[in-house]
Amino acid sequence: MPELPEVELARRQLERWLDGRKVVRAEADKTRILRGGDRERFLKLKGRLVRADRRGKYLLLSFEGGQGVLAHLGMTGKFLRRGAADLVPWSRARLVLDDASVVHYRDPRMFGQLVAAPSEGLRALKAVAKLGLDPLADGLTVEQLIEAIGDSRQALKVALMDQTRITGLGNIHAAEALFRARLHPGRKPKSLEPKEWRALHKAIHAALSFALAAEDSEDEIAYVEEPGAKNPFLIYGRAGTPCRRCRTPVKAFTQAGRTTHFCPRCQPKRPKRSPQT
Ligand SMILES: [Zn+2]
Repeated sequence: MPELPEVELARRQLERWLDGRKVVRAEADKTRILRGGDRERFLKLKGRLVRADRRGKYLLLSFEGGQGVLAHLGMTGKFLRRGAADLVPWSRARLVLDDASVVHYRDPRMFGQLVAAPSEGLRALKAVAKLGLDPLADGLTVEQLIEAIGDSRQALKVALMDQTRITGLGNIHAAEALFRARLHPGRKPKSLEPKEWRALHKAIHAALSFALAAEDSEDEIAYVEEPGAKNPFLIYGRAGTPCRRCRTPVKAFTQAGRTTHFCPRCQPKRPKRSPQT
């Protein structure tokens, strides 16, 4: 499922693909991908991409003439560039470019969303306006991290995934960050000591940088849940296999309806008390 790094890579791809090109025609099938949006407005999209921004898992695309598109990739959404004659299964919407290549929005399960709206209003859209700080775009500091989730009564992993607190982390990268920081996902934010906050802060940035670097080489971004995809992650999806750090079998449990992976030895439930922090 795409989270901050995968959406950031999609943003960079769109920038690359549309650089120096013009959209000559926009197409969209009548699917729920365009729910909440205006299909007629989407079909009128034309011209150059002026800027491609990202807030959390949302892409904010601005085109010439003040036209904009808000895109969320949902669970299985992906942008792909193909030749004019190529068939793309599950293509739900398309931007036809002036070199005859086509940027498809493909989404088998259709949890994604495309909303055509005036570009100047994209940031004010409800879905975007309520988002918290973006670790990459806003450069989240340790103080901002504490400010964002320190008062949450949720478990640490659930708080990290709350998009109104910090935006961009989902099930994969929240688990990765907690493993890197050696923090149990069920810990309460209030129980963290200053050095643990510092470790978590560093780990969030490390997990995101790692994913960006690991996935950037591919022309098509592979999601770890896809058949045949490799799992590049340290802890996510590794239940039952030895921990990369200590060889203890990785465990999984359910938190807020999602599977959490963690190492019971590296990420103890009870924090080790240190005499000075
Ligand atoms: Zn371990």
